[in-house]
Amino acid sequence: MPYALVLQYIAAAFSVVLLFISLLNWRERRMTHYVLLSLAVCALTVGYLLEVTSPSLAAAVIACKVAYLGIPFVGPFFLMFCLDYVNWLLRQKKLLFLLTAPSALITALVFTWPAQRLYYIDLAFVDTGWLPHLVVMPGPLYYFNFIYNLLLSALGCAILFRSLLHSRPQEKKYITLFIFAGILPLMAQIFRLTEFVPDGWDPTPLALVLSSALLGWFLMRFRQPDWQSLGRDMVVQNMKDAFILLDTNGCFMDANDTAFNYFPALRQASRGVSIQSVPDFPARLFNAAEDNTEFTLDKNSEPLYLRVSRSPLETSDRVLGTAILLYDVTENHRLMQELRQIARHDGLTGLYNRGTFFSAAQRDFDLCRRNQNDGSVLMMDLDHFKSVNDTHGHACGDKVLVDVAQILLTRLRHTDISGRYGGEEFCVWLPGAPGDGAAVIAESIREEVKQLSFMSASGSFGITISIGVAPVDYSREQNFEELVGEADTALYDAKNSGRDRVCIYRAPDREVSPLND
Ligand code: GH3
Ligand code: MG
Ligand code: MG
Repeated sequence: MPYALVLQYIAAAFSVVLLFISLLNWRERRMTHYVLLSLAVCALTVGYLLEVTSPSLAAAVIACKVAYLGIPFVGPFFLMFCLDYVNWLLRQKKLLFLLTAPSALITALVFTWPAQRLYYIDLAFVDTGWLPHLVVMPGPLYYFNFIYNLLLSALGCAILFRSLLHSRPQEKKYITLFIFAGILPLMAQIFRLTEFVPDGWDPTPLALVLSSALLGWFLMRFRQPDWQSLGRDMVVQNMKDAFILLDTNGCFMDANDTAFNYFPALRQASRGVSIQSVPDFPARLFNAAEDNTEFTLDKNSEPLYLRVSRSPLETSDRVLGTAILLYDVTENHRLMQELRQIARHDGLTGLYNRGTFFSAAQRDFDLCRRNQNDGSVLMMDLDHFKSVNDTHGHACGDKVLVDVAQILLTRLRHTDISGRYGGEEFCVWLPGAPGDGAAVIAESIREEVKQLSFMSASGSFGITISIGVAPVDYSREQNFEELVGEADTALYDAKNSGRDRVCIYRAPDREVSPLND
């Protein structure tokens, strides 16, 4: 048996095995093109084996048809495989359809021979005694198949070659192997056409099986793990947290898009430059003592709150550098601020609630007493407020409370501290204000409240307020609660002496004096 025939048996058996292996490993979408390629190579190789073992022309023509189930598809499938490898496949179904349409036409032409003679004008069967085979008298479309497949395979190799130029060093050897696998069948074709091989033998099927085996081995051995690291790369690249990699000397090594957005100067920085030399890069970020801290980045008009976390990048025996992660915690900040606002303020009026008022005013009062400064407390209560609710409704009562609080917020200085003390009671701490000064402020508040006018279904109405004033008294011991109590006593007196008035507290040996009648 001639050695070429032995090789054909081996190639056919090997192509069937490869097809099975590829089918068994068809777990990922990206294996699809390899499975298709194996299928085409298998049809082609088995068909060629049948041809060279045919007893007659009729049998050889059938074998040729089997081979043409694969031959015209090798180029398109190889190109798809290459495009997939370099991640250029966007609309793969459309492209697959487009590329295989001419191949399907060629197969149809072979299948319908001799009804039409566009592909083959005629076929003859020769048995030289060495390797029986078909001799072709080419039709007008015969070379189209050859050129089309040659072009697509060459394009696939060119695409791989381009990615070889841009690939990482460890990837280069795999792509070189890949390109070799692509070129091998092209070389076989050239050998056949130049009659470099013994007469009648087509080495292309054997070359295709070999290249298909190489590609398969590469895929299963290297490409799948490579996809995993590619997957990891993509996660890091696309994640919304910023990632910056520094070496042990604090030199910039890598960063993802989010980091580039935060620090645009980093995009221009070359790998290996000291991160300290990158303009606008906050020095605190590589200060290891400050792990898990937050810092603010002024981006556009909105500040961004970022939490920094650092982890060493190390192998089993040495530290290679540091990975810095920056998490955007702006939303948490906003929520915290909202929560703080809710916890500290009165929901209806927006003033401090009683607890916050007390702690803030108390702190200020202590400071004031230590410095022997003046200061006063105003205690206020709306007059006959119950009847406002009863006559005009609760919603109207709420509106009154909001408007009175608004007077306090606009009338008082930003250093003054006001709060809603109870239902319709308000308390104000006026640092730096002596009793008579505080009384003047209280009087103007009383006046403004009196000017307010409200409307309800029951008609329009006004409201009055009574205010007690208690100044800090250095002639005796006094804490803030006592001072508030004294303002309350003065308020009580304002109520008892006719409401709609301001009274100043005087110590027991003195009288509580109404300011106006
Ligand atoms: P006085 O002049 O003696 O202070 O009489 P008053 O009616 O204002 O006093 P009283 O303590 O009898 O009534 C206070 C009223 O304030 C009773 C309560 O319904 C009303 N009130 C307390 N909190 C709110 C509130 O958040 N909204 C409304 N609409 N009313 C409130
Ligand atoms: Mg009241
Ligand atoms: Mg009251």
